[in-house]
Amino acid sequence: MRLVLLGPPGVGKGTQASSIVKKYGVPHISTGDIFRANIKNGTKLGLEAKSYMDKGLLVPDELVVSIVKDRLAQDDCKDGFLLDGFPRTIEQADSLDQSLSESGIKLDKVINLSADKDILLERVVGRRICRTCGATYHIKFNPPKVDGICDLDQGELYQREDDTEETVSTRIEVYGKETRPLIDYYTNKDLLLDIDGTQPIEQIFEIIVKSL
Ligand code: ADP
Ligand code: ADP
Repeated sequence: MRLVLLGPPGVGKGTQASSIVKKYGVPHISTGDIFRANIKNGTKLGLEAKSYMDKGLLVPDELVVSIVKDRLAQDDCKDGFLLDGFPRTIEQADSLDQSLSESGIKLDKVINLSADKDILLERVVGRRICRTCGATYHIKFNPPKVDGICDLDQGELYQREDDTEETVSTRIEVYGKETRPLIDYYTNKDLLLDIDGTQPIEQIFEIIVKSL
């Protein structure tokens, strides 16, 4: 199964991704997670990516594309993968298309989640993430059993530095200009599965499973 999760910041891509990879056993490739791991480890890539992420801007295509290319070439992606947060520009999508066709493979589905700006803002600002396992919670919509503590491994929950109202507004604007055109791009390739992202988490997952 070769899948892409498309949608604005906070719409629920990562949340659905963790259920999808559990059910279908494909690796979860989140470019945002890759950048955050590089920032944590103090790599040169992390340092460069951070300057864009802090402002809510996209990391330049040439940096992102080569990272994803390398990741998709790894053995665990041989039989499938779930891309979350990539592609985010037409250039990235073209380059993905090219590398896949060079390997004689095709995407199976592009899952597009959507929601209005006020919902996205509320979701992102209330998002909390486990420092050790990366599980995602929401203070109101998906709270942990104990405040500030991960249900799965008791790790500390933190708020991403770029999850402020100001940065999210910029990210939503950037999404509209750079990423939204991918909806038409993948509709034209007959790959798009459009889902209303304002539904409950479990309901969205059911729709995804039925369509795959
Ligand atoms: P994305 O990866 O698209 O940025 P996330 O999956 O991290 O989004 O979700 C953003 C926030 O919204 C998280 O706090 C998550 O718990 C919450 N969330 C995700 N899906 C839903 C949903 N369907 N309804 C309510 N809250 C949701
Ligand atoms: P969200 O789903 O909440 O927007 P992500 O974790 O996917 O957050 O991305 C966080 C940040 O990482 C983005 O705002 C952007 O700066 C950078 N980033 C992630 N993926 C890409 C990509 N495919 N192209 C360019 N920048 C990216």
